[in-house]
Amino acid sequence: MIRILEKEVADKIAAGEVVDRPLSIVKELVENSIDAGASAITVEIKKGGKTYIRVTDDGSGIEADQVETAFLRHATSKISQARDLESIETLGFRGEALASISAVSRTEIITKPAAAAAGVRLVIEGSHPAEKEMTGCPDGTTIVVRDLFYNTPARQKFMKSDATESSLVIEFVSQIALAYANLKIRLISNGNLLFTTPGRGDRHKNILTVFSREISDDLIPVRAEKDYLSLEGYISGPGQSRATRKHQIFFINGRVVNSKILQKGISQAYSDKLFEGRFPVAFLFLRADPAVLDVNIHPNKREVRFNDEAFVTEFVHHALRQALLSRESIPEVKEKD
Ligand code: ADP
Ligand code: MG
Repeated sequence: MIRILEKEVADKIAAGEVVDRPLSIVKELVENSIDAGASAITVEIKKGGKTYIRVTDDGSGIEADQVETAFLRHATSKISQARDLESIETLGFRGEALASISAVSRTEIITKPAAAAAGVRLVIEGSHPAEKEMTGCPDGTTIVVRDLFYNTPARQKFMKSDATESSLVIEFVSQIALAYANLKIRLISNGNLLFTTPGRGDRHKNILTVFSREISDDLIPVRAEKDYLSLEGYISGPGQSRATRKHQIFFINGRVVNSKILQKGISQAYSDKLFEGRFPVAFLFLRADPAVLDVNIHPNKREVRFNDEAFVTEFVHHALRQALLSRESIPEVKEKD
């Protein structure tokens, strides 16, 4: 007997592709806030996001009569026809995130466009709208996701400890705070404010705010340009090296990437200054002509490939070398793990 699955079952299955842990929910919600033109975004989680995730923004908001539609599958305001797929400028466009999230949690949205006199509050439990009312609220959108996977116990089991789930969320929000230095990003976990970035586009300030407890403030600025490449960022002197690459974060054209090329450029620049297995702190923002790189290596877009990898490695190596030389005369004493 072949049958079409009920909508609720189909929704749960589809949700598994978009939402697999708190991190993926935070990512979808934050990307929606960025797409909505927010200038300030607050992320709050409890228990690693398993019981509570809240994302609040001051973006465009959603009209009261559209708010249920936003939770339907393939409902999006970001594209309307097939040819729009060729020129996507938003982070989202599939119209699946809110449908998926609300299928596997108790979701609440409070939203108000600036032009509306009042906002609206809607609660959706496992895809079913449960409550709707008009309410006074600030301009923008707040989405609260409670009890993730309460109705799909098999998925619940796949989540790791609160500590692991929260560290993934913290890592992601930190990267967003660095990549979007013009946004005010606030992160709260179990009631503790972890950081608030000033949102004035000052990368150095943001790095220090986000990693205040982990890195010292004597970072060395990097700035270089050559042909189709430009590099900006901050590195530490060899004295502030680590046993892992945790404090090496790379952005290529605004996206966080894992880049062997940049790692190689770094190790070449420090080759006579650091022992094997020691890694300097490095926050590098590389811009490259999109024509020379391929971002579609992996669906998560974390991998990129350059046409001329040797050229890029050399460029990074020299840029960092130059930056280190400029600091050579200052003695380095700090060691930290
Ligand atoms: P997508 O982002 O792919 O369009 P989503 O399911 O994430 O799909 O969101 C559906 C729609 O809901 C969006 O297209 C947008 O119109 C609206 N929306 C979602 N989040 C927000 C937000 N924070 N502010 C304003 N509108 C939002
Ligand atoms: Mg989205």
